[in-house]
Amino acid sequence: MRDSAFPAKLIDKFGRHVDYIRLSVTDRCDFRCVYCMTEEMTFMPRKEVLSLEELYQVAKAFTELGVKKIRLTGGEPLVRTDVMALINKLGALPGLQELLLTTNGSQLTTFAERLKKAGVTRINISIDSLKADRFRRISRVGKLDKVLAGIDSAIAHGFERIRLNSVVMRGYNDDEVLALTGYALDRNLDIAFIEEMPLGEASDHSREDTTCSNAWVRAQIEKKYQLVDSTTRTAGPSRYVQVMGSRSRIGFISPVTHNFCEDCNRVRITVEGRLLLCLGNEHSVDLRAILRDASKDMNDLKDALVASMDIKPERHYFYDRDHVQPVRLMNMTGG
Ligand code: SAM
Ligand code: SF4
Repeated sequence: MRDSAFPAKLIDKFGRHVDYIRLSVTDRCDFRCVYCMTEEMTFMPRKEVLSLEELYQVAKAFTELGVKKIRLTGGEPLVRTDVMALINKLGALPGLQELLLTTNGSQLTTFAERLKKAGVTRINISIDSLKADRFRRISRVGKLDKVLAGIDSAIAHGFERIRLNSVVMRGYNDDEVLALTGYALDRNLDIAFIEEMPLGEASDHSREDTTCSNAWVRAQIEKKYQLVDSTTRTAGPSRYVQVMGSRSRIGFISPVTHNFCEDCNRVRITVEGRLLLCLGNEHSVDLRAILRDASKDMNDLKDALVASMDIKPERHYFYDRDHVQPVRLMNMTGG
């Protein structure tokens, strides 16, 4: 049968095994974070966005090719109408070991229970400030109390290893590194500090002025806490340390100052069905064209995924200011 012709694994030409996808379920969001979006955003026309069924078909094809981990992202995944219908189906996909979600937390009080029941294993919640006025400045429209309630709700529903994500930006929230760390530690949560990436033009600031290196962030934390390098390694730009005397881990996601591309195990699917083989390059495959071609089926989709491995770039060049960076904003990319 044709099915048996498919390798169980997706392996690129550098020998890297792709077993993790980040699936963007919407480019829309109830926030407008300064590092991610412009204030006046134009979103994709709905007909260009993959339907929930198309998103499911993509996820199914990947899991049949050995993908074990799916992260749902966006935009804000929880603002997509009927997103739970998709999440429930994904949670039942054979072979899938981890179903993860990255969210801004604003809707978690409504969704936490259903996400847990659907089989979502872990949640990352973004929070860049613990001061309400500043939180609003960074997210442009977000309400801090809703996000804090969302975090409490995720904790109450027993999600394992909830991780907070904070983008540290000079002049915006660089004086809150210790406060954010303390907030996470008090609740036994993990926290990851993310270097601002040059994806698209930021409209409120020049990224050159705001980007803080994680080496600097770590030095701030070490003024108060003793950090022990963790043996946990993930195949991505995150490196974790353990805080002495605490269950929490601190992650440093350093795409700008470090390059961990040799371990890369992931690809992204944008909301219009573009399979993006690297966050920092434009190499992609149009999966939507295959999904919407009545003469093509699941085998054609899988063929395209296997073939895409040949164009996965070796690395990104975020640290190289002379290199032309993608014009895509993060909400279009799927964080
Ligand atoms: N809306 C959800 C959220 O905010 O968590 C999921 C999508 S968001 C694009 C995913 C992650 O990307 C968030 O943690 C956000 O802080 C981060 N992010 C967005 N734009 C970024 C940028 N230019 N540089 C670094 N991180 C960015
Ligand atoms: Fe929305 Fe997340 Fe982008 Fe903020 S980072 S604007 S919450 S998608």
